[in-house]
Amino acid sequence: MSHQNQATTPAISRPDYTLSASEAAFERACRVIPGGVNSPARAFGAVGGKPPFMKRAEGAYLWDIDGHQYIDYIGSWGPMILGHGNPQVLKSVRDTLEDGTSFGAPTEREAEIAELVASVVPSIEMCRFVSSGTEAAMSAVRLARGVTGRHKIVKMTGHYHGHVDSLLVQAGSAATTLGAPNSPGVTPGAVVDTLLCPFNDIEAIQELFRQHPDQIAAVLLEPVAGNMGLVPPRSDYLEQLREITEKSGTILMFDEVMTGFRLALGGAQERYGVTPDLTALGKIIGGGLPAAAYGASKQIMGQVSPSGKVFQAGTLSGNPLAMAAGMETVRILKETNPYPYLEQITSQLEEGLTKVCHDLKVPARVQRVGSMITLFFNDEPVWNYEDAKRSDTALFGRFFWEMLARGVYLPCSQFEAAFVSVRHTESDIQETIKAAGDSLKAIFGK
Ligand SMILES: *Cc1c(COP(=O)(O)O)cnc(C)c1O
Repeated sequence: MSHQNQATTPAISRPDYTLSASEAAFERACRVIPGGVNSPARAFGAVGGKPPFMKRAEGAYLWDIDGHQYIDYIGSWGPMILGHGNPQVLKSVRDTLEDGTSFGAPTEREAEIAELVASVVPSIEMCRFVSSGTEAAMSAVRLARGVTGRHKIVKMTGHYHGHVDSLLVQAGSAATTLGAPNSPGVTPGAVVDTLLCPFNDIEAIQELFRQHPDQIAAVLLEPVAGNMGLVPPRSDYLEQLREITEKSGTILMFDEVMTGFRLALGGAQERYGVTPDLTALGKIIGGGLPAAAYGASKQIMGQVSPSGKVFQAGTLSGNPLAMAAGMETVRILKETNPYPYLEQITSQLEEGLTKVCHDLKVPARVQRVGSMITLFFNDEPVWNYEDAKRSDTALFGRFFWEMLARGVYLPCSQFEAAFVSVRHTESDIQETIKAAGDSLKAIFGK
């Protein structure tokens, strides 16, 4: 998400790094697409300057139309855990393509992938496929309200669940309060039942339950936050949320659009051993094509139409190509168990970046869970959005551009997590650490 706007590219120490073809492509796009992009973060609002336009991706690398090669730490913002262009995934999509791209009628593969998801995600017995994480979160919130007959939902400040009206809220003056719309076009009525709460703060959530007894349909969160930079849950936080919601007949909903199949095959809920009532999935589940899902017990999912009364539908839901890519991706993850490798390689990155910052006396914190990682330019640990906002975003912007010019493609905001894929090698990691050292030396003139 964009938290600030700098119009110009920060000065960089590599005058040989130029983006003339990309700049022309961007100017052309800006004439016909708002901001030149189809999703705001891609426009580099948080780091300034104009984005490189991409041409091709393979494994851990991206190539832009100006001919630069990058080590990719975005992975399409999460889906590409197997790296780009996995041959088995591509073959599955190609084979499926030959039989037709969309039928608007049921296909066998939809049950096959639902069985696979149910077999690996602890909270899921049944699921419904949709086409984006936004749709999954929106539908899950509707289901939680339909099942409980309650209206209010609790959302954590700084957590992102897609561009759902009722979830586009920002904090008011008090820490725990009714949210205010944070986009024009979202009416006060759309957010009147959304309560905001700081992440990792059990007292704040207890207070909300005291203020609104028997009214809260769902507590919604990213179990490991990735949309304000990487922020892990404090120890016992998820367990305590589980206890509080259970006691109150409130649905605990994990938005695992980013963490699902990423932090473990069964997501954060497997990794932390805390099972929510309702789960939203996306990103990896589409294997790089548009797919997402929400799932729960048979009892809860049985309330979704047509078996129940909570309405939800989609022309392209369960699309054959997206199901083929997602199915093959999850199948490979299950078969190959890449999680120990991802842990090992990303912890090397964590240690390397920490050491570089320490040696150069740059106030910074590297926060990591599994293959999700953020270098915060912040001298305190980050546990919530208020902490995250104290980071030096101007320094991040300069660092981002220095890294880009050295062939490392990081998320273009201090408030986004980076992702490592199974195709990143030890030498990619070492090259990244060296680029980070050189970048910081260039910035601080050392
Ligand atoms: C990306 C993301 C979404 C939104 O998914 P889209 O496919 O972009 O609509 C929702 N929740 C979380 C946690 C995400 O990371």
